[in-house]
Order: sequence, then C-alpha cells, then structure tokens
Amino acid sequence: MAKLRISEIFTSVQGEGQWIGVPSVFVRVSGCNLRCVWCDTPYASWHPEGPVREVDDVVAEVQAQGVRHVVVTGGEPMLFEPTVELVAALQSKGHIITIETAGTVDLPLTPQLFSISPKLSHSAPEGEWHDRHEAARWRPEIIKAMMQRATVQFKFVVNPDHPSDDWAEIDAMLAQLPPVAPDSVFLMAEGRDAALLHDRERRLVPEAIRRGWRIAPRLQIDLFGDTKGT
Ligand code: SF4
Repeated sequence: MAKLRISEIFTSVQGEGQWIGVPSVFVRVSGCNLRCVWCDTPYASWHPEGPVREVDDVVAEVQAQGVRHVVVTGGEPMLFEPTVELVAALQSKGHIITIETAGTVDLPLTPQLFSISPKLSHSAPEGEWHDRHEAARWRPEIIKAMMQRATVQFKFVVNPDHPSDDWAEIDAMLAQLPPVAPDSVFLMAEGRDAALLHDRERRLVPEAIRRGWRIAPRLQIDLFGDTKGT
C-alpha cells in the first residue's frame, strides 16, 4: 500500500495563481529536495513533520471535504512516487488537480495544472545545504517535460529589496524553455507579512506592465496572515 508523509490537509481558497479564490482542498506532502532560505513551509522542508499515511486514507479525507479542486503541494510532492497513486485516485473520482512544484523532479502523472515555481538565486541558504540547493534548484529539462504533458503556470518569488537581479535570472530561465505565454508568468513578492508584501507588490507593477506578466497576490496572507492551515 502506497504511503506518504502528510504535514497537513485543509480546505480553504486557493491564494495564488490563475485559480486564486477557488475553494480547494490542500494536501501538503512533507519533504523537499530544496532548502530555500525564506521557505514559508519549513515544517514540510527544513523540518518535515506529519504522519506517514496510506494514500487511500488521504483520498477519503479529501473526498469528505466535498470540494472539487485539490492542490497537491509541499514541500515537493513530485519527490515521492506514491504521489502518482494519490493523483490518479483523486482524478478517478472527478477532482481537478493542481500540483505545486519547484519543477526539479518529475513523476509520471498529469494534473490539470502544474504550478511551477522555479527558485532564483536569492533562495539559496548558507551552510551545509547551500551547494545541494544550488545544484538542484534549476532543471529546465524537467520543466520542459511537464510543459509537454499539462497546462503550466510559473510563479517566481521575487524580492525587489535583494541585490540579485531577479529580472535577468527569470529572463535567462525562460530563454531555456519553449515559449511561455506572458500571462502565465506570475510574480509573487517574497514575504510573509501583508504590509511588506503589498509594498513589494506595488514596486513590481512597472516591470509586470512592461513584460505583460502578472502580479500574484498571496490571498492567504491577506485573509488569514501567516497562519498554518490556510
Ligand atoms: S521548494 Fe518550496 S517547500 Fe521546498 S524549501 Fe523551497 S519554498 Fe520550501
């Protein structure tokens, strides 16, 4: 029987990307191959928490919510083979699946939407994880494979207060991929506080207009603050 470590399952509204505001069940798989310095879910990456659960049990809990959209997130859900079984079981019951991933590992599954968040250089931590993180965070061949199988959106976490040139990095990444529709590129300010996020989002607007990219608010922070389970 396939099992996954699950840090949390909760029902809320999607806070980010093209399905913002859509009622959704979130299944957060615990464990990640990256260690972003500003990770907003360290309980699923730096310090993975949660019980190891049978996939059937997870599917039953999701179904009990009575909500059609399911967001399989992490951590990095594409790191774990049983995610294939989880997604197949949910799709067979009519659920619409978004996979939230950094796009560095692949599995033979096809969600309705891959929400891919490639990590820029300002994500790198110091210390023992630095080199591993840097070696793993950008895998264009993985993203290309995802683009061939499903609809994708890109969410780039950007920080206008960081000295790195986020725009040059995003341009260099997109140049290595097949053409990406500008309105499938979302810019998310880095931060876990509404006032800070709004300030940074405002400063991203001119570049978003210039490039035709979208500003992606974090609705969950606006509505609930930096609170687990929202
Ligand atoms: S990829 Fe996501 S879950 Fe993993 S460390 Fe980075 S922000 Fe956290």
